Amino acid sequence: MEMNYVDILGIPITRTDHQSMKRRLISHIEQDEKAFVVTANPEIVMEARKDARYMNSILTATYVTADGIGIVKASRILNNPLPERVTGYDLMIDFLRTSQERSYTIFLLGAEKEVLNTTVRNLEKHYPNIRIVGYHDGYFNMADKEESAYIVERIRTLSPDFIFVGLGVPRQENWVADHYHHFDRGVFLCVGGSFDVLAGVTKRAPISWQNCNLEWLYRLFQQPARWKRMVSLPHFAAHIYKEKVAKRK
Ligand code: UDP
Repeated sequence: MEMNYVDILGIPITRTDHQSMKRRLISHIEQDEKAFVVTANPEIVMEARKDARYMNSILTATYVTADGIGIVKASRILNNPLPERVTGYDLMIDFLRTSQERSYTIFLLGAEKEVLNTTVRNLEKHYPNIRIVGYHDGYFNMADKEESAYIVERIRTLSPDFIFVGLGVPRQENWVADHYHHFDRGVFLCVGGSFDVLAGVTKRAPISWQNCNLEWLYRLFQQPARWKRMVSLPHFAAHIYKEKVAKRK
């Protein structure tokens, strides 16, 4: 079963829905394979266009899913529609549930130490049969090769089925891309600020806001400092319309 993709400003977004992506990733685990999943939004696309190293990291991913509604809308504008959003957070929650039933093992990488400890406690309370085999906070020095080597070795030794990586953009994609060749198996899923949500430090937008495509606005209210990153959104839209016009010619 091949999955094709939709090109959004140079980034190949996997044409899939949540359930198919979930099934595909579980099948990688069952076959003892590895996979690297980037969950993209317009900010990520615009960042990659500015930063060649980041673009290369994203292009090494096995799958790039449409995390943000802006990506799905862009695909419609370009007459090559993606079925729906496939978010890192929703995939992770689904995998946590499945891991309870199937005893998959989990490693968490990212967030502040305290936040991560609370995340682990909350997950173990919520999913009593879950097997979190290890975790490491996200504030290590990426330039320090020994620190990363230590984390790589831990993950290799523990050989978890899922590695949820919440180091923020662009650290998480760069870190996985740089070290992926060391790993033989496991699904590496980039989840951004999801551990903060699980720890109760930030809240995910209510479903009603998500259904109105306003999750980005909800996040902006919670973390006003994000406005700087969001100035890339109108640029993203302008580039998409430019491409649409160019395609017509
Ligand atoms: N983070 C981290 N290490 C860093 C910087 C950030 O682990 O050096 C974590 C941060 O604590 C938060 C997540 O990465 O849990 C980034 O959250 P954000 O909401 O910015 O997610 P993004 O929009 O970047 O995906």
